[in-house]
Amino acid sequence: MAILLTGGAGYIGSHTALTILNSGMDVVVLDNLLNSSEEALKRVEQLTGKKAPLIVGDCTRKEDLEKVFSQYPIEQVVHFAGLKAVGESVEKPLLYYRNNLDATLTLLEVMRAHGCFDIVFSSSATVYGTIQEMPLRETLPVGCTNPYGWTKCMSEQILKDTAAADERFHIVLLRYFNPVGAHESGMIGEDPSGIPNNLMPFICQVARGRLKELSVFGHDYPTKDGTGVRDYIHVMDLAEGHLAALHYARDHAGAEVFNLGTGTGYSVMDLVNTFEAVNQVKVPYHFAPRRPGDIATCYADPAKAKEVLGWSAKRTLTDMCRDAWNWQKHNPDGYRS
Ligand code: NAD
Ligand code: UDP
Repeated sequence: MAILLTGGAGYIGSHTALTILNSGMDVVVLDNLLNSSEEALKRVEQLTGKKAPLIVGDCTRKEDLEKVFSQYPIEQVVHFAGLKAVGESVEKPLLYYRNNLDATLTLLEVMRAHGCFDIVFSSSATVYGTIQEMPLRETLPVGCTNPYGWTKCMSEQILKDTAAADERFHIVLLRYFNPVGAHESGMIGEDPSGIPNNLMPFICQVARGRLKELSVFGHDYPTKDGTGVRDYIHVMDLAEGHLAALHYARDHAGAEVFNLGTGTGYSVMDLVNTFEAVNQVKVPYHFAPRRPGDIATCYADPAKAKEVLGWSAKRTLTDMCRDAWNWQKHNPDGYRS
């Protein structure tokens, strides 16, 4: 039996593929490679000594999914496939709704037709919208501020309704906080195309000299140093969270939501200072106006994942900064290096 990872060639998917393979299970990947490279999976194979077959195909196309399910004995699915750039989703909402919702719907239909009912879904802390009550608990109401976020809220609802209507489904919804870092080998990592939107890849490219300076968006927030606070989580901790979720899904019907975060908030300046200290590099920065749509502070209550899944994040901010830079240093142009 094998675990299907849709979008498994991407950043979180490739780290999860490695973790699942190392746990002794087989992995199959379906990815259209729109935002990823086959090279990531080749490196996963080098690291694990095991091959995860890649089917280049689209999760919104029934025939591509049929091909996977008829060729491989898929027991469980982790559904990473989706577009994820918030800004782009505001400009191209139809592209985001079509891709992200169709992928979820088509996948569920094909799974059911093939008697596969276990699915772990990549959701996001963005579903908490502008809630200011910290830490964020799974019981809070959802509500989003951009089309990308709405595709996550809507997919969550589709999955919950599906589980309510058909008790054969075992569904786990994972709300990721801010995944950063890379596998400690430096062989796989985050490879954004163009200028990064997110803080850690931006810092890495400034440290490397590819970008001149970091703009710190806002230094008048009601936080300890005025800069935005987030719950950064090492991508390998996140990957291990998926393994715990897959184990849980095996014998739990219904749909259950879990935060995957550390429970600790760090500011933009915490990241810059830790990155400089641990890696002995300079990260030039200047203060810039707040980024529209940003909130001051966002961090998880990770207690439910600990209690129910037996999972908690282990790696520190130092680990995150060291591993992100290790990947960047060895792969200055990502998988094209
Ligand atoms: P990523 O872009 O690296 O990986 C997503 C993968 O899905 C890519 O390889 C892409 O080519 C593929 N894909 C997209 N649409 C597809 C389709 N229709 N059919 C087949 N493949 C398709 O992104 P990531 O950071 O690894 O994120 C994985 C998932 O986690 C996404 O659903 C994302 O929304 C969610 N998430 C990410 C973050 C984050 O900060 N990285 C935070 C919260 C949630
Ligand atoms: N940020 C920043 N400069 C950048 C990118 C991000 O100051 O070039 C800040 C941003 O305002 C937020 C934090 O870093 O406070 C994390 O932003 P990111 O885009 O990585 O994640 P998200 O907004 O999804 O939490």
